[in-house]
Amino acid sequence: MDLSEIMIPQDEIASMVTRVAEEINKDYKGEELIVVGILTGAFVFTADLVRELDMPVIVDFMQVKSYVGDKSTGTLTIKRDLSTDIKGKNVLIVEDIIDTGNTLKALKEMLLQREPKLLKICTAFDKPSRRVNDLTPDYNGITVPDEFIVGYGLDYDGAYRNLKEVRIVR
Ligand code: 5GP
Ligand code: MG
Repeated sequence: MDLSEIMIPQDEIASMVTRVAEEINKDYKGEELIVVGILTGAFVFTADLVRELDMPVIVDFMQVKSYVGDKSTGTLTIKRDLSTDIKGKNVLIVEDIIDTGNTLKALKEMLLQREPKLLKICTAFDKPSRRVNDLTPDYNGITVPDEFIVGYGLDYDGAYRNLKEVRIVR
């Protein structure tokens, strides 16, 4: 296993965070927002993003596991649930990367049953070429090619989450 040269440098990630935060700030001006970071990968992006938001923000985390079998495409198990009641609230799911879209599609359906006022999705990275459903993020950081990436919260077997930049695993 090898790591590639830097694919996305730290400064490019920082400008992405600023740009995405500006979009969110514009859309929610003054309204309270519950930010739901998806553990573990999104912990870095969530931490960076919320510090650029200027509306009242509640930060919560959720950890889920998705099983994709032949019959069921995207069954979701909650490993850690929210500690916040999201009914009637503005909710923003923050994810590290969207690949097939199975995880977020299932999670979105599950959270919609709790009747939030508005539920949107924000991702640091998006791999649209791998999508198997119609899921699209409301806020997308950087579109990446079909490669397995690590760094900025993303891991390979638990490692490399602490890299400041993004690299490809080969
Ligand atoms: P999906 O359900 O969209 O296929 O899966 C998304 C999840 O798969 C992400 O939250 C992440 O945990 C993992 N994943 C997908 N692509 C990558 C990648 O390129 N690198 C890493 N480290 N994880 C990935
Ligand atoms: Mg993940």
